[in-house]
Amino acid sequence: MKKLFKVCPACGNKTISFEEGKKWTCAFCNFELYFNVATSASIILLVGNALVLVRRGKEPGKGLLALPGGFVDPDESAENAAIRECIEETGITPCQIRYLCSFPNEYLHKNIVYQTCDLFFTANCAYDILTKLSPVDTEEVSAYELVEINSTQDIEKLPLAFSSAKEALLVWAAKRFK
Ligand SMILES: [Zn+2]
Repeated sequence: MKKLFKVCPACGNKTISFEEGKKWTCAFCNFELYFNVATSASIILLVGNALVLVRRGKEPGKGLLALPGGFVDPDESAENAAIRECIEETGITPCQIRYLCSFPNEYLHKNIVYQTCDLFFTANCAYDILTKLSPVDTEEVSAYELVEINSTQDIEKLPLAFSSAKEALLVWAAKRFK
């Protein structure tokens, strides 16, 4: 991240430095820019015994599986972000949404590694909703898939794009399969 700025974005001098993992400061004009974590919100969505996963249509993790979810917009709650992203990616409106846990993660986008705080919620939806859906095909998601999960081992085998999703699913499984 040190090399992101060659000069200070405020005054244009080469007096910019990066305090690792925290912020850029300019020794000349006192400019400060904090490198805060980006918040994402995802949903562990169950249809009966099946977990709803999406296959990522772009990097990072193109072709791998992920929970429905995405980054929280400015002025948006994490709950709303999780619901909005789930509808956008799967067409399914989740209900009975509950906070589960969070894990840190890294998200590489156009050569910049974003440190993220990934929030995870659980939710349900009605069985019959699936009969009303048409396949989703967006830039972000190539498809959604229903994967039956009957044990912790089933989660270990999933080709997931992000380690934080696996950690969250293991937290969920510890409660479900105890
Ligand atoms: Zn400056």
